[in-house]
Amino acid sequence: MPPTRNYIDGEWTDSESGDTFETVDPAAPDDVVATYQESTAADARAAVTAAADAAAEWASTPAPDRGAILKAAGDVLADRKAELTAQLTREEGKTHAEAGGEVQRAIDIFHYYAQKTRDLGGTVKSSSGGRTNLYTREEPVGVAALITPWNYPIAIPAWKIAPALAAGNTAAIKPASLAPGPAVSIVDALDDAGVPEGVVNLVTGPGSTVGNALIGHDRVDAVSFTGSSAVGGTVYDLATDDGKRVQTEMGGKNPTIVTESADVEAAADIVAAGAFGVTGQACTAGSRAIVYEEVYDEFVDAIVDRAQAIDVGPGDEYGMGPQVSADELQSTLEYIDVGVEEGARLAVGGEALDGGRFGDGYFVAPTVFGDVAPDHRIAREEIFGPVLAVLEVGGFDEAIQVANDVDYGLSASILTRNHTEANRFVEEIEAGVAKINEKTTGLELHVPFGGFKGSSSETWREQGDAGLEFYTIEKTVYENF
Ligand code: NAD
Repeated sequence: MPPTRNYIDGEWTDSESGDTFETVDPAAPDDVVATYQESTAADARAAVTAAADAAAEWASTPAPDRGAILKAAGDVLADRKAELTAQLTREEGKTHAEAGGEVQRAIDIFHYYAQKTRDLGGTVKSSSGGRTNLYTREEPVGVAALITPWNYPIAIPAWKIAPALAAGNTAAIKPASLAPGPAVSIVDALDDAGVPEGVVNLVTGPGSTVGNALIGHDRVDAVSFTGSSAVGGTVYDLATDDGKRVQTEMGGKNPTIVTESADVEAAADIVAAGAFGVTGQACTAGSRAIVYEEVYDEFVDAIVDRAQAIDVGPGDEYGMGPQVSADELQSTLEYIDVGVEEGARLAVGGEALDGGRFGDGYFVAPTVFGDVAPDHRIAREEIFGPVLAVLEVGGFDEAIQVANDVDYGLSASILTRNHTEANRFVEEIEAGVAKINEKTTGLELHVPFGGFKGSSSETWREQGDAGLEFYTIEKTVYENF
């Protein structure tokens, strides 16, 4: 059994509250997956104290030595890939294929940032002083508080913990309560890899108490949050009020523009993958298709076919897993009702699949709405379920206007054979990630990831070199011997 307790100062510990909470399999909610600590603000403070006390020694550990520990942790995760994949599927609900891909991403992230530690340091600058050495040093920010969501429960903790530790910071992480197991498994891998006491700490429990105690602690220097826009706004205000460095990565309402030059069958495949992959529970889910009138009817027919062809069910034999919880399922069903009430045309899906073949699992049919208007709520708000809104437009100008006319700006795609149109899209789309002839989901790990507008606090990016910058502060040295 992988550990499920808090990890503070190198020890697996119980919360001082004496209370615990359980997670369940979203495909079979009677099946309890694990029991975690219902931590308190005092537990969170203990985690930060441990991180702060370990900070100086870790910062002065040679960066390649830090990298060797990250490399070893990545190797441990790789050795446990099958077990971690099964854990992720059971607690969060992704299909085995999706879960395996996510675990592999976490392994790759640890190996990537392990390698990066060899390039850390700074830059030598030319100086107008005669015998002067002028250079910059890259130093860690200090203690990082990391708050993560349930929907990528191993990849997102990995893409925060690995760069934070690589750059010489210590960390306290609070994973989301619906699926904390994979983050605990990362910390377990670091422990097995020999990470020094206090360098990484983990507390599970409610965001409102544990999360707030981490953010508000005066020994925390940087806060990295991924989650909903509502919580992200609160986290941002709390951290900036305290003068802390903060990044918030939040939701999306990501458009795919289908132009008249697109191959409609290929477009349907791409849009279906973006909208229904990981059950639509991705910040980059392609939840809006904005389709030129010339191909609109043909596209709707093709995407309905794709939705009908998806076999929904648990584990490795199916194409789409459940929603993560009863609340998330309920929220999706409410949005489907809203879509019908607003006058959009329910083209396929629209119902929960519980009570039948899958017992009480949180399954919902892949759902497509046609004739959606730009002011409909289902065209503007993040649903976080497998629901696609299809909007008809007269051409590029209208498409880009509709695409940009939402509060979010995370990922966006255009499907076209016209290079001029693709270039205009890249210039005019308000999104942190612009894709051509690709689904909105997925991105390689060595490039910056983040959003515009309500999707991110725009100052910082994650992944790649940009992911290290958040955890690094530059010192300029002017040396005259
Ligand atoms: P959430 O905002 O409910 O929770 C995220 C984390 O914040 C959890 O650990 C939660 O316990 C904690 N939290 C809750 N209240 C808090 C508070 N008051 N103070 C501090 N922490 C608090 O989000 P979720 O439901 O876990 O995740 C889904 C959301 O995450 C979606 O909106 C999705 O778009 C977004 N997301 C964004 C990205 C990205 O990179 N942009 C990636 C994945 C998910």
